Amino acid sequence: MHVMLQSTVPDHCSTFALSDSNEKAWQQKCNHHHDDRCDRCELLNETFCAIELCIGEVNSSTIRERLLHRLQFHAKTIRDRKAHQLRVVHQDHARTTLLKELDTETVFIYIDWAMKWLPMRYREAQRDFFAKRGLSWHVSYVIRKSNSDLSSQSPVFGQSSSSQRSITSVQTSAFKSDLQLLSSQSGLHPTPFYEHKTFIHSFDQCKQNGKIVLGIVRDLFLRLKRELPGVKYAHLRADNAGCYHGSEILLSTAILHKETGIWIKSIDFCDPQGGKGPCDRMAAVTKCQIRSYINSKNDVTNAAEFCNGAASTKGLEIHSSVVDLSYNDKIELAGISQFNNIEYTEGGIRVWRSWKVGEGKTFKWSELPTVKSINQLKSLYSPNTKSQWIAETSKKGTILLSSLLESRKRVF
Ligand SMILES: [Zn+2]
Ligand SMILES: [Zn+2]
Repeated sequence: MHVMLQSTVPDHCSTFALSDSNEKAWQQKCNHHHDDRCDRCELLNETFCAIELCIGEVNSSTIRERLLHRLQFHAKTIRDRKAHQLRVVHQDHARTTLLKELDTETVFIYIDWAMKWLPMRYREAQRDFFAKRGLSWHVSYVIRKSNSDLSSQSPVFGQSSSSQRSITSVQTSAFKSDLQLLSSQSGLHPTPFYEHKTFIHSFDQCKQNGKIVLGIVRDLFLRLKRELPGVKYAHLRADNAGCYHGSEILLSTAILHKETGIWIKSIDFCDPQGGKGPCDRMAAVTKCQIRSYINSKNDVTNAAEFCNGAASTKGLEIHSSVVDLSYNDKIELAGISQFNNIEYTEGGIRVWRSWKVGEGKTFKWSELPTVKSINQLKSLYSPNTKSQWIAETSKKGTILLSSLLESRKRVF
């Protein structure tokens, strides 16, 4: 099915489907009718009806009831799955809209914990394999828009005197010449383009909770601000895990801004497996690097060795970290699990259950509890604090905006 923000097919109209019948602030009326039909969606309902008819013809009432029960169970699973897909597509509009509107003062950040890393030695006895405790590592994938004229950057990019950088500069210059070609053909200034860089924080041991994540976000903001003093705002995107979707992160905007100079403009949550792709991708690339590092006779058994193994990954800055957990104050905001999209302004916050469906509920800052202190993250070791940003390019070197912004439409 093709889910859209607006559709005259009721099953395809995500605004209609996600409008909350119990909460006025989260209701949205469509200015069209929902009187069109989709053959494929109808077919699903017809199939359920047809199966039900068949079941009705079974003689034994016990078997009939059992089959009917099973049908209802499976129909619900399929409908839930369809609803999940619809939410994924709908919430993805938040991402594509924000990326399109990104300016040079704002960064867009995906945050996610990667699957724990099990310590691994080059030569490993079978008995070592058991009773291992995994290392936690957290991935932050940052996208920024760069407006700078590329020709003025050539002193930075062009000098390939340092041998480490030669690969990057060859690729960058390929990209640059394509871009210059593009702009010379069109006679326009170089098109603004997107760059990304990934920050990984690895830990020998840590809980994956809101306080740790807040320490990570603070550290990330400080590093971004130091490197790009012009950055003032950030959009965050995470999945529904409790460490993100909790009061700790949602109510820390003011103190984060005070301590780092970066203000969170919005936080969006997506269904599991629905839109943190870049973090998964970088985690996979990093794991590949670490495996080949182990294959060249190294061990990766702790957070520092993990950094060394990952260090050669392009566009990655990695830190072996600890968070000093001295603050333990609890903070609560009722109904928070329903807030999937949050916008922060000077006056307060506006929250939605589904992205831009309805006016949204507003809270003034004076009505909200706020986080008073952040547990500080310390970087114990980093092999690559000077890693470069990577332009979002395709293999041919053309700008990959289309794929970056491509929204998910096809679902069924
Ligand atoms: Zn509609
Ligand atoms: Zn359909």
